Order: sequence, then structure tokens, then C-alpha cells
Amino acid sequence: MNSVVEQLERLEAEIASVLAGAFAAEVVAGMPDAEVMVLLEVTGRLQRRIEAVQVEATVQVRERSEGLRGERMTSAYGCDRPADLLRMVLHTDRAGAHRLVAAAGLTARVRGITDGEFLPARYDALRRALNDGVIGLAGFLAATDPLERSRKRILDEARVEADRQLAAFARGIAGGAGDGGGEDVEDAGMADAAGAAAAGHPAPAPTPDELGQFARVLAAYLDPDGAEPKDELASRGRSLRLGRERDGRVSLRGELLPEVAAQLNRLLDSLLSPRVGEVPVPDGVHFIDSQHDEAWMPVDDRTRPQKQHDAFAAILMTAARSGEMPDVGGAPPTLVVTVSASAYATGEGWAHVDGTDVLVPVRVAAQTACAGGVQRVLFDERGRIVSIGTSARIFNALQRRAILTRDGGCIIPGCTVPATWCEIHHVRDAARGGPTHTDNGVALCWHHHRTLHLSEWQIRMRHGVPEIRGPAWWDRERRWRPAGRQVLRSSPAASCG
Ligand SMILES: [Zn+2]
Repeated sequence: MNSVVEQLERLEAEIASVLAGAFAAEVVAGMPDAEVMVLLEVTGRLQRRIEAVQVEATVQVRERSEGLRGERMTSAYGCDRPADLLRMVLHTDRAGAHRLVAAAGLTARVRGITDGEFLPARYDALRRALNDGVIGLAGFLAATDPLERSRKRILDEARVEADRQLAAFARGIAGGAGDGGGEDVEDAGMADAAGAAAAGHPAPAPTPDELGQFARVLAAYLDPDGAEPKDELASRGRSLRLGRERDGRVSLRGELLPEVAAQLNRLLDSLLSPRVGEVPVPDGVHFIDSQHDEAWMPVDDRTRPQKQHDAFAAILMTAARSGEMPDVGGAPPTLVVTVSASAYATGEGWAHVDGTDVLVPVRVAAQTACAGGVQRVLFDERGRIVSIGTSARIFNALQRRAILTRDGGCIIPGCTVPATWCEIHHVRDAARGGPTHTDNGVALCWHHHRTLHLSEWQIRMRHGVPEIRGPAWWDRERRWRPAGRQVLRSSPAASCG
């Protein structure tokens, strides 16, 4: 241990005892405002001093961790990289460690070949400001970051001059900062203390944000054409990722370009915008809560994100059956659903959906199989394929259009999803012999299709017209009633046209 370390150890013990006494006696709670300000100000000075020496030590960690693996300082302490060593020894987080490593890279110096003296650091003036306690780690990085972003396009002499101006600005020396002087510094008393190290009459010391602002002005002046247009940078960062399945869900993450996000928003909006005014209330429907005369509001307890998920599902289904997607292996993009024949017959058990490792309930598989763009493969217990779903079980375009025209959208009362976005539901399940015929198909939105079996809504066909029986909160009498918006909207004569 050298004497500097010993002295710092003693100082730390002294600080520890001062603070222990202060905390025990609740001293801070009793301080007047001005004293709290001075307390903060002095700890700021201490912090900057500490950060300066941490950066200086990190320079050594970096330099001594560059050689052969066996000789590196990091290896000696069981760490992979300098940042890992810092996290361990300083008890700091990843971001804090990386900030120290970044600052160390910009303050490191090499010795000259001829005289063995240290040559100036990349940002030598700012390094000295850091070592003098004028700026801390935050200020140093704020000042250097804008220039480093253009490092390849700023000449060395220009960088040295920018470094000098930034350090002068940090020290509060008028003239060094041009017209970037910090008029906004709120407390001159505090700023005086921070700038006390500067020669002459110091201006209020700038905050890291103000330093960064001045540095951006300098960088823009030194590198006027270098910065790439924002949209080019944005374009490079675009992404869309599907995560791995966890707890029955797959995460979707990414960064959309504004126009793509706008398109998605429009599509989601078109599916989610409430059009309650268009929803007719069937004659004879009574409400449990009849004391309220307000317009009937459909009960939909989905959250906004859940609704958006369901709308997204409808968008994908619509794209898949549009016939306009590129072929995969010579066929339209078909989702292959594999299910055992017995599970399919009973409706219990699990099915495998191609393209994911997740098993989905057979009921869900049946729903997806109702829609176009899905092929169902049935196999027996021994794994033999017993049937491959054919288009005979999928409503064709003509049937689809007829059903959507008849129903005018999702037939669940109060649902506003328009016809284009709907799926066709086999009222009597195809697996149980329900025909793929317009008399056995109704329009349901993705959400109501998916949750029909859980809900209290019941659907049946009567002479080719869908009927619905609602939950008691909707219809106290729980009668079968004609469903579909066209049926409700038009007179029988008009619907013949
Ligand atoms: Zn619906």
C-alpha cells in the first residue's frame, strides 16, 4: 500500500465517523435550506474528486488488461473485461462501469519515445479539469461524447482546440465558451465554489447538460456534413423480432419506422374505433340494469393492449388469406396445424402449430383451421397421417363473401369489427360433421371466435339465418334472437335485394 492509498483510507474512516454521527443524530433533518444546499455542494465536490481518481485508476486497469490473456490484470482477478472488474470492485452497475472505461479511454496518455515523458491525452484540457475537481465523470463524458461521435471527421488540431474551449467553459472562464455562457445557472453561490479553481473572475460553472450543448455546437461546426441524415440512421436501426415462447406467449419486439408504425396504427384503429352508433339494439332485448337510460354499452373487459393484440391477429389472418402474399415452397403461406385424430374428434387435447414450439389447445387449432391459409394435418396414435385438411373444410371466397354480406360483421351484439376483418365460424364444428356451407357459417371477429367457448354467447342456425342467445345481463329472458347486423338493420323484403 502506498501512502496515497493510506491517506485515502484514513479520510474514508473520518468521513464514515462524521456521517455515522450525523445519521444517528438526524442532523440533516434539522438543517435549514441553506445548509442543505451547502451539504449537497460539498458532496458534489467530493464526488468529482473521487470520480477523477477512479478514472485515473481505470486507465491503468485498461492498459494492464491488453496483453496476453495470462498476463492481464483482469485475468489475475478472475474477470473478463475491465468493466467486469470495476463492477466487482466498485459495487457499481454495468452502465456505471462502462462510463468509467469510456472516460479512461479518452484520458489515457502514452509516454514519448525520446524523453519518456507523458504525451497529452486525447482530451488533455478536460482531463485536467476532471483532475482539478472542476467537472465530474458526467461533465467529462457530456463534453467529449458529441466530438467522439464525429471522431473520424474532426482533425486533431480542431479537436485540441475544442478540448481547450470546453475546458475553459467548464472552468467558467469568459471568452473560452464564446456565446455559450451559462445564464441559466440558478444558484450563483454554488457555481462560484465549483468554479473557484479557475483563474481570473469565473463565470458560473456550467452543468453537464450545458457542457454537452456547447460540445454539440462545436461538433456541428467542425463536422458540418458528417452527421448522417437522421432518417438514414433510423432506417438502419429498424427491426422486428419474435422472441422465444415463455409462459404460453411469444414476445414481439422491434423498432418501426414512422411510416410503418403509422400504417399499423391506422389498421389497428380501423379495427378498434368504437362505432357504437351503428350497433342496433334488437327489439325485445331487455337489460338487467334498466334503471339506466344511457345507450347500451357492450361489455368488453379487454384492455387496450389486448384489443390491439386481437386486431393484430385479424390483420395477419386477413393478409394470409388475401392471396397476395408470396408463395412459400410453391404454395401460399399456409400455417400447418397438426393434431391427433382422437384429440380432434373429442375437442380435448393439444395441437402443434407449425413455426412455434408451443402446443395450443385443439379448440384454438380448430379456430385457426376455420380460416383460410391454414392446413390441418390429422394423425393417429402411431403417427400415421389420417387426413390432411382440404379446402373442403375452409369456406371459399364466394361463401365467405356471401356470409359476410348476410352478417355484416361480427354477429356478437355490440361488437363493431367490420366484415372484412372477420373469420368464418363453423356453427356446427366441421370435425363433428358440420358442413362447410353458408347455412353453417357465421362471421365472428378474432376475439369472439377465440373466446366463444368461454363466453355465454350461443349461436345456432335456423333456416340459414344465424340466431344468438345472449347472457342474462344482456337478455334477461335468454331467448334465441336473430343475429347479424344486416338482419337487424333491414326489413325482410330489403334483405332479398
Ligand atoms: Zn366480435
